[in-house]
Amino acid sequence: MNQSKLLLHKLHQHRHKLGLLAFAVALLSIAIQTYPGLPGTFRAVASFILSTAFFISAGLSFYLTTFYKVTPDVVAQQASNSENSQSFWKEARRRRRIALWMAPSWLIAGPILVWIYSNVVPSKDPMTPAIAALVTYSVLWFWAAWRFTNMKCFHCNGRAFDNILNFRNHCRSCGTPFKPPEDLSK
Ligand SMILES: [Zn+2]
Repeated sequence: MNQSKLLLHKLHQHRHKLGLLAFAVALLSIAIQTYPGLPGTFRAVASFILSTAFFISAGLSFYLTTFYKVTPDVVAQQASNSENSQSFWKEARRRRRIALWMAPSWLIAGPILVWIYSNVVPSKDPMTPAIAALVTYSVLWFWAAWRFTNMKCFHCNGRAFDNILNFRNHCRSCGTPFKPPEDLSK
C-alpha cells in the first residue's frame, strides 16, 4: 500500500467520527455567528476556518461512507461464494430497494396521509395534517433506511452499509463482494 492509500484506509476506519466532526463544526459555526458581542474580524476569520473544516470533513466523510471501496482479503473474497452470501445479498438488495423507492413514493403516500389526518384528527390549522403526514412518513423512511444500514455482514459481522446510497454491492467493513448466482462457479 502506498502512502495515500494507507491514509485513506486509516481514515475509513474513523469515517463515522469524521461525520460527527463535520456536525460539531457546523454547530460551532452557527453558535459563533449568532453569539452577540463578538468582534467582526474574529467572526470573519473563525467562519472562514470553520467552513473550510466543515467542507473537508463532510466531503471526506461522504466519500468514505459512500464511494470508497475496501479491498477484500483472500478469505473475504472467497466468502462471497457461500450460501450465506447469497441470502445476505438477496435481503440487503431488497431492503435497499425499499428504502430508495420510499423517496418517490412520498408523492403518492403523502396526499393519502394528509387526507387521512385531515379526516381523523380534528384541527383548525390547515398545516397540521400536512406536518403530521410529513413526520409519519419521515419516521417510516428512517426506519426503512435503518433496516438496510443496520445490517451486519455475514462474513465479518461488521456494519455492511453506511447509508442507502451504497449502490456498490460490497461490504463496507471487509469488502466482500456480491456475486450473482451465475458467477459462483468462477
Ligand atoms: Zn464484511
